Amino acid sequence: MTELKNPMEIYKVLPGTNCGHCGVPSCMAFAALLIQGTKSLNRCPYLEKNIAEHLSSRIVKRRSMDDDHEEVINRLRQEVRHLDLSHVAPRIGARLIDTHLAVTCLGKDFFIDQTGEMTSSCHVNHWLYVPLLHYILECRGVEPKNDWIPFSELPGAAEWSQYFSHRCEEALRQLADAHRELLFEILFLFGAQAMTTAGKADHSLVIMPLPKVPFLINYWQPDEAFPSELNILLDRSAAHNINAHSITLLARGLVEMFRQLIISHSREGKLF
Ligand code: SF4
Repeated sequence: MTELKNPMEIYKVLPGTNCGHCGVPSCMAFAALLIQGTKSLNRCPYLEKNIAEHLSSRIVKRRSMDDDHEEVINRLRQEVRHLDLSHVAPRIGARLIDTHLAVTCLGKDFFIDQTGEMTSSCHVNHWLYVPLLHYILECRGVEPKNDWIPFSELPGAAEWSQYFSHRCEEALRQLADAHRELLFEILFLFGAQAMTTAGKADHSLVIMPLPKVPFLINYWQPDEAFPSELNILLDRSAAHNINAHSITLLARGLVEMFRQLIISHSREGKLF
């Protein structure tokens, strides 16, 4: 039985009339949703039931990012089971409360038990869950020294540099340009501390996404001659406390969280 592994292969077995009766405007769009698993073939009324069932069994659905993260989380949780949390707590700057590690992220407590399960009064998502488990497993407890470097200078960052620059720094710059006051208000609510830096940015703030992994956010406002700029620097010690991919996830998750908060607080419910 030949497998159907991409939208084009699926498209070839659809009627191709683009009638829209399946709820999307074209057969190609329908094929793309079939491969993601968000629509099923029986939504096309022009395929006979037995043919639709046969074709369905040939479609190889794409794994989503959530599937991948769930697999990673399960693997990391297995590793956490072998840790002695009472030894881990002082090393990573956390507290042990009963049998749980209490790790402060942006001023909020997240609790991890011996099975690696995470709970918090805040929303828990994979942007934080994956880096936090890596942090618990890998952090060597090296203290930050106010020695700030770009993300690209960290070991293992090459693969993620472009993503970090585009999806984290650039995305945050756009939020700062559009909602400067609200964004900085949110940052201070999450424990940001203003600081003076050699780069003389208009705003320099340190936030603590993890106890030994500070981020320094520098923002230069736009003026008549120059567009705005924003960078996120890491302490050189981050190389010993967390891996580059986890930093990327963490930064991306923060930007997403700020974006959602801005949407929910802005009067029109619009970002830009
Ligand atoms: S209902 Fe069938 S034929 Fe019509 S657009 Fe959808 S997939 Fe194509």
